[in-house]
Amino acid sequence: MAGLAILAAMTAPFTAESALSTIRAPRSRDGRSSPIKDAAFDAVQAMVAPALAGGAEAALDAVGQAYAVAEAIWADIRATPAYAFGTAKAACGKGCGWCCHQRVGAAAVEVLHIARQLRLRPDADTLIARLDAWPTGRACAFLVDGACAIYELRPFKCRGLYQLDARWCMTTYAKLDVPLFGPPPSHDYQAPPKDVFDGAVFGLALPFHRAGRDCAGVDFMPALKAVINRPDAAARWWRGEKVFPAEAHLHDWFPSIKPAKPKRADRHRGL
Ligand code: SF4
Ligand code: SF4
Repeated sequence: MAGLAILAAMTAPFTAESALSTIRAPRSRDGRSSPIKDAAFDAVQAMVAPALAGGAEAALDAVGQAYAVAEAIWADIRATPAYAFGTAKAACGKGCGWCCHQRVGAAAVEVLHIARQLRLRPDADTLIARLDAWPTGRACAFLVDGACAIYELRPFKCRGLYQLDARWCMTTYAKLDVPLFGPPPSHDYQAPPKDVFDGAVFGLALPFHRAGRDCAGVDFMPALKAVINRPDAAARWWRGEKVFPAEAHLHDWFPSIKPAKPKRADRHRGL
């Protein structure tokens, strides 16, 4: 029986869709994944996929729910002895925002969700004014006195970064040329939070991709700036219109899905 199953798999037509069906959390550069990444991916994907039937607003709501799901997984991990005693301490803390000087990637639907929620906040005018004044290439507009002014709304990519040596962030992200003491800065980071939130953002993007909706990775600041004063942006995006400028586009997460070619017998039958 096993032999028949293998034979069937080997003769099945290969399409991007069939390849996607085997993806759980996409692999890291070294080709490995992790149970944590897969768990976050599965949990978020299972929650987001049904929400797409509810239209644009439901899709944006699903982003907030995806943040809650991923944060709950991360809280569970933080509470384990394995994390507490087996993971090197991160250098992160309030007032340390060198990482916010880099370009931050976000899923397109995350940006639309953040824009909607940001417009509802009591401090919306102040935050939108900061964003409108944001010059390309500078630190994130929401970095205020070394802290994130939209902490509970920040994208997945901001949530998973826990470096062990702030000097590395200072020189790499903020490009500061400062005298450093001690050993060379270390690039080491905590893997569990990165796995959780990387898995989660892929789990968020994949259902949109499968539904043929554009949910590419975009550059957070220019993408948000382009839609923050356009309350109709989410509805236009849902209709398939381009709402982000070309310079905000970072990359697509997944291979494009093309309809499978009909089998020869089907073509003869005119199917
Ligand atoms: S990632 Fe780096 S810059 Fe950001 S809070 Fe942590 S140590 Fe500081
Ligand atoms: S959204 Fe917040 S955490 Fe993310 S880059 Fe901006 S200031 Fe930093």
